[in-house]
Amino acid sequence: MASKNLNLSYVLNQYNSSDKLYGTVLQKIEEFKLLHPQRKLYLMTFGYTSQPLSPTVIQKLREGVTRLGDLKTYTSYEPVAGKSQLRELICCNHYQPLGVSLDPSEVFILDGAQSGLGNIQELFSVDDSVGIQNPTYPYISESHLSVGRHQIFTLDCDQDNGFLPEVPEQAIDLIYLCFPNNPTGAVATSEQLNLFVNYGMNHQSVIIFDAVYSQFVQTPDIPKSIYQLKNSKQCSIEINSFSKVANFAGLRLGWCVIPHELTVKNSFPGELNQMWNARSSIKFWGASNLAQIAGIAALSERGKQESKAIVEFYLKNVYLLKSALDKNGFTCFGGIDSPYIWVKAPDQLSSLDFFNRLLQQTGIAGMPGCLFGSCGEGYLRLSALGYREDIEEASLKLSNF
Ligand code: PLP
Repeated sequence: MASKNLNLSYVLNQYNSSDKLYGTVLQKIEEFKLLHPQRKLYLMTFGYTSQPLSPTVIQKLREGVTRLGDLKTYTSYEPVAGKSQLRELICCNHYQPLGVSLDPSEVFILDGAQSGLGNIQELFSVDDSVGIQNPTYPYISESHLSVGRHQIFTLDCDQDNGFLPEVPEQAIDLIYLCFPNNPTGAVATSEQLNLFVNYGMNHQSVIIFDAVYSQFVQTPDIPKSIYQLKNSKQCSIEINSFSKVANFAGLRLGWCVIPHELTVKNSFPGELNQMWNARSSIKFWGASNLAQIAGIAALSERGKQESKAIVEFYLKNVYLLKSALDKNGFTCFGGIDSPYIWVKAPDQLSSLDFFNRLLQQTGIAGMPGCLFGSCGEGYLRLSALGYREDIEEASLKLSNF
């Protein structure tokens, strides 16, 4: 007789599982729609992108589809680690301009960052401890709990520490960092990240760096990759995505970097890289060839210019929203190097009460900060990845809220 995975069942049944909390928010939005069918809803809840794929990407996708439909040009399975052209372009056109030198064999193509963030743990022992920012992009702790890894430490990020966690006092084996951060929009300076790299080197810990929003960084001298820091290849894995920078959220494409230099206490140099390749063969077998063709287009010189325009569009959105909030005296963070604004609830409202009040009075639905962890209580995240017209209308409503 089969029996269920008790770890996964435990995650789902926690009173505060992401699924349950999202369900609560979605239900409140549905109730609002039912009660006020004539009112406009401004959905700034999720990290959903709104803009279409860029012209260069579309053109290459069309050509790719035509080739797949022709007996003479059809292709079947691809290398599990991804197309070599795409891996090379990630090294040359993404990392090299940042002053980072990587070998294409260190880059693995993923179907988005999410699967990498959730699956990378398979490289490590289930007995390893994990440090996770609080608040954080949800699912990371749940992905660990679902395989029975329970030694999870939270790294608190609040207004006092500028939403940057202190370097832990105890030894933690795996540390997840995300900058620019979702949900707070905070960025980390080289000095601040360096403290973590030194920690990783001293404790033989691995930093798993989520750089999904790196292309949103505008502030000079803020690192866009952990590999811009000395020694970081020895102790870091980086995960990135085309979702936000090129509107691939539905198309699905990302990558992770596992440097050959990275070692843990019982591995030799290059072994973790080989293990991930083996894991990809066992469980993945590669990202869609069409999505990879699109990724190659997005990293071409023209594609990069178009992606820059996409990022600028979202940054203008976030600027409009943040200006309205600032004008109205809200305390808010982020919104400069990130498409997210982290708004402090006025009048000491709880996250959920602020969410409700804003929704009822303006039709704007944000994401209650408590969904990202206990340190998110008392905040609301607004996403500026939506349509310009909605952002302009919502900004007006926020100025008068
Ligand atoms: N990491 C962070 C911080 C995110 O905000 C998201 C998506 O919103 C992801 C990872 C997942 O990205 P992807 O669409 O590439 O799976």
